[in-house]
Amino acid sequence: MCINHTDRRGFFKAAAAAGIAVAGVSAMAAPAAAHERTLPLGEKVALTNVRIFDGDQVTFPRTVVIDNGRIGISSLGARRIDCGGAMLLPGLIDAHIHLRDVNTLHALAGSGVTTGLDMASFPPSLVDSLRGLPGLTDIRSAGAPAVAPGSPQSQIPTFPADAVLTGPEQATQFVRSRIAEGSDYIKIIIDEPGLSPETIKAVTTAAHSAGKLVMAHATSTATVVRALDADVDMIHHVPMDSPLSASVAARYVSTGTVAVPTLTMMEGFGNLGIPGMDYAAAEGSVAALRRAGARILAGTDANLTPGIPVQPPYGTSLHHELELLVHAGLSHREALRATTSLPAQAFGLPDRGAIRIGNRADLVLIDGDPLADITATRSVRRVWVGGVEYTPTPA
Ligand SMILES: [Zn+2]
Repeated sequence: MCINHTDRRGFFKAAAAAGIAVAGVSAMAAPAAAHERTLPLGEKVALTNVRIFDGDQVTFPRTVVIDNGRIGISSLGARRIDCGGAMLLPGLIDAHIHLRDVNTLHALAGSGVTTGLDMASFPPSLVDSLRGLPGLTDIRSAGAPAVAPGSPQSQIPTFPADAVLTGPEQATQFVRSRIAEGSDYIKIIIDEPGLSPETIKAVTTAAHSAGKLVMAHATSTATVVRALDADVDMIHHVPMDSPLSASVAARYVSTGTVAVPTLTMMEGFGNLGIPGMDYAAAEGSVAALRRAGARILAGTDANLTPGIPVQPPYGTSLHHELELLVHAGLSHREALRATTSLPAQAFGLPDRGAIRIGNRADLVLIDGDPLADITATRSVRRVWVGGVEYTPTPA
């Protein structure tokens, strides 16, 4: 029994694993060094006359202060920017991306996505090169996912050998290796036939013992049930073979498992005309999850992974995902929470996802009212990442 894990589950729940774009990133990805910028973190700015979606609800126009990278208290001495009644959102969070290179971060930031949660990338040096870059989207990463021998991922020449598991006895070493490499959470690809239920459970148990959340990749009813049986924290994707039943959807709630449907990716695969991959089933699965009361996060599976037939664009696809979630039955407010406060809670990132004094100054200023028209999130006027206003850098 792990007390840390038990405590964390009191607040959220999580786990999921790689998306369909499982395989992560090519070792050829460009290093970030050439794009690193030194920006002033200390500038104090007062955004006046802004309506605020604070991560939960909309408040009357007021002033928000950016002070040394955080949401501050006093506007004394601040440079004032009159926002003319535009709406300020917490920086958006994409709960399922695959990192490629520093251009990934530029595309995300330019679209108002200030946190990108990677669901499988390697090598670790690539992920490390993209961490903590001033004024660019902040990331977390799963590193390499656990996969079965013979799986497509295991065929990639650069795929780490110790992430190909033949039995439960390898689970502890797999988790240790990922943590040593800096993985923020652990991902498991659940396919058929794929990893055995015993191996999936062993990886989950080892991750939880180490205080790490477990992400499961599952795209069918059978693999979702296998993920639920293993007590993972989040399930990424939703079944495309048939809509989730009410009874399986209810298990997300009873176990506290979080859903990251990645409808953008499922829509892309649905358009390929592959038998058994029906987008209507994916949308029906989200509707079932919503009716059951499950927590649903916005994730896109944005990637530029070679060989993946569907490659949602970084940043803009998050806005599309919100529209798909609304079409699947979420309210506008629920969709906004799915990309702000909910992922912050589910991933244990208490310094973001809400406009609150002391939080990171991750902010998006938009035109329009996304509570009336969800497409308004696309009308991005300005973005701040950790208090630094994002400005596109010419390639
Ligand atoms: Zn993915």
